[in-house]
Amino acid sequence: MKAIIIGAGLGGLLSAAKLSQSGYEVEVFESLPIIGGRFTNIPYKGFQLSTGALHMIPHGPSGPLAMLLEDVGAEVTIVRKKPTAVIRIPRKRGDRDYKFGHKDLMFEDFKVPFSLLNRIKLAFYIITTRKKPPKEGSFAQWCSKHIEQEWTHRISDSFFGWALSLRSSDVPVEEAFEIIENLYRYGGSGVPLGGCKAITDALADIVHANGGKVHTSAEVTKIVVDNGKAKGIAVDGQEHNADLVISDIGHSATAILLDDGTKSTEIQKYIDRTKNLKPSAGIKICLCSDKPLVGHGGVLLTPYAQRINGINEVTNIDPDLAPTGKHLTMSHQCVRLEDLDRLEEEIDLGLSDLKYIFAGKEYEVLLIQSYSNGWPVNRSSSGTDLNNMTPISDLYVVGDGAKGKGGIEVEGVALGVMHTMEEILGY
Ligand SMILES: Cc1cc2nc3c(=O)[nH]c(=O)nc-3n(C[C@H](O)[C@H](O)[C@H](O)COP(=O)(O)OP(=O)(O)OC[C@H]3O[C@@H](n4cnc5c(N)ncnc54)[C@H](O)[C@@H]3O)c2cc1C
Repeated sequence: MKAIIIGAGLGGLLSAAKLSQSGYEVEVFESLPIIGGRFTNIPYKGFQLSTGALHMIPHGPSGPLAMLLEDVGAEVTIVRKKPTAVIRIPRKRGDRDYKFGHKDLMFEDFKVPFSLLNRIKLAFYIITTRKKPPKEGSFAQWCSKHIEQEWTHRISDSFFGWALSLRSSDVPVEEAFEIIENLYRYGGSGVPLGGCKAITDALADIVHANGGKVHTSAEVTKIVVDNGKAKGIAVDGQEHNADLVISDIGHSATAILLDDGTKSTEIQKYIDRTKNLKPSAGIKICLCSDKPLVGHGGVLLTPYAQRINGINEVTNIDPDLAPTGKHLTMSHQCVRLEDLDRLEEEIDLGLSDLKYIFAGKEYEVLLIQSYSNGWPVNRSSSGTDLNNMTPISDLYVVGDGAKGKGGIEVEGVALGVMHTMEEILGY
């Protein structure tokens, strides 16, 4: 059996590793000259920056990605250190610029700023929603109805901005509750030693060791469909046949490549649905400093900032991600799709947040990266993902355009790949 995989991002390489280990002949086609997609390193001035991710695995060494990596035999170490998340709030209520200093709350104490009544309500909802999670509307709408307070919106916008690059008003409440459940189930974040590249390179090594091939600078221009079944792909005008095709480029881009003469109603309906999918966008600002700015290996959530949702300093876990004696700190801010035409302003707001958050500390801005359109934070914003199947038999979609439920970023990618493998391999 032969499998062709379109795209050597994390989703494509996880699928390729698993199938090559399960006896499939595997060929991966990647349009860029490098592998890893939005999950690899960019060496820059001695720092290991990245093509996308902030070198962070949402559920660290005990989440779905770690499990799948272990399953395929990828040798990667993911380190989780306490605290995994800290919330920075102003010492004085309403002082957004931290003129009167700040306090750092442990994530577990996120309830402290709630009123007594809301803390009681929260305890009640934590128990009742586990049995019957809400389904209608956005997380922000649910909060407004049940636990209305400024803090509710600040902390949820900061958390979902960091984790999903979405405002809480853009996160479907059902997905939000699945994510919260997974936080309890799998625990907090960790950093892979060597950064994102350590993971995607380890996966490519497994594919090669099992006799598979990974082609770079090889853009797939067509998915060949015959009688409702995927038969292969075309690269540079040359067709390559396979028993199944897995696409790591999201449903929308996959639909554009379909070469199907019949255009059955079912396929046409699928193509129409993919046109409504929306990605999530964001801005990452990379800082370097001699002294630590954050001081721990977890996330610093910043609910009082204008734009920055959270910050991490990965060198507190892996010092090799920066030159000796330096620290690498990265901030993330979500950008709403309607604000994409004013990116410069959004970047300025992010930079001004950092001045307040790190007031009195010395740092240099290394690089500012923005992510949207064909290179977004997520190809489908969380909670809007279509599943891994398509109406074309033997054509599957993986990656962050088809994440598993409740899976934050690469954890969602891993859940989607697990689901796809169950469909293909039957286990
Ligand atoms: C700023 C930012 C911060 C993030 N931070 C984190 C984080 O800290 N933790 C986390 O878990 N996640 C994070 N993410 C998300 C994470 O990076 C992505 O979810 C993940 O890398 C997506 O992998 P993928 O395989 O789905 O897609 P991709 O990495 O995009 O892989 C798809 C590949 O397909 C290739 N391709 C496209 N079209 C074709 C074609 N026609 N033919 C051949 N190849 C093609 C692309 O070049 C690409 O290499 C972040 C993302 C961004 C942008």
